[in-house]
Amino acid sequence: MHIVTCDVPGCGEPATHKVASRWTDGRFTELKTYGFACTNHVGDICSEAEIRWLDYEPVPGESVGAIGIYHYQPGKTDRQFHRDYELEETYLACPPPV
Ligand SMILES: [Zn+2]
Repeated sequence: MHIVTCDVPGCGEPATHKVASRWTDGRFTELKTYGFACTNHVGDICSEAEIRWLDYEPVPGESVGAIGIYHYQPGKTDRQFHRDYELEETYLACPPPV
């Protein structure tokens, strides 16, 4: 089976979490992936995700939800991932202050 590893360069640990946000263009909805992280690097991936999230400008009709941290389980689909609200409180600042 394909093993998804942490996105931090040089880490190489199997991913345990996926950092993503709900994206939709009105027809399709999917989890837009910002990165995969091992337990040690959830914070790193989140900071990077937030920078990209803030930079992203949706085209008309598109909408991007807040960033979430999902438990990643190989072989499961996005819909089956559970959010880790505890980690989100620790690592995410979104929605950003206006
Ligand atoms: Zn890692």
